[in-house]
Amino acid sequence: MQMCELCGKLTEKLYKVVIEGSEMNVCKECAKFGKSPKTYSRLGKKPIPTSGKTTTKKPVKRRRDLFDSLPILREDYGDLIREAREKMGLSIEELAKKLKMKSSTLQKFERYELEPNEKEIKILEKWLKISLTENAGEDSQFYSGESDEGFTLGDFIKIKK
Ligand SMILES: [Zn+2]
Repeated sequence: MQMCELCGKLTEKLYKVVIEGSEMNVCKECAKFGKSPKTYSRLGKKPIPTSGKTTTKKPVKRRRDLFDSLPILREDYGDLIREAREKMGLSIEELAKKLKMKSSTLQKFERYELEPNEKEIKILEKWLKISLTENAGEDSQFYSGESDEGFTLGDFIKIKK
């Protein structure tokens, strides 16, 4: 005689069933409440395979020295481009022609809809005689008020969106 794990009744035969996720050896009566392991594995959710791979990737934190070496696009780049262009008395189309860029692209820069890439920044800086990037030590409104120490990664994210 064996004992039902659920009700404690002694029974001739025990049935292996799954009740609320756990496997139990129960009597015929209690077996009605559970599912047979076979049914369970077919209908139930399969457990997530725990193969070595971790699904959660840790965000790679950029180091400060990386920021220092990379030119950072100024937050007011759109206005800088527009102002410099207007100073030169050029329309967007005229400037675009000179820079061999699409006027629609240039317009997007001025509207902050698009950020110029490194190459475009260089072209714009050269032609418009402006600085579109933030570099340590450079005189810009961003650095003027704050010390380097008060400058956090969070600030960068806010600016870069
Ligand atoms: Zn039972």
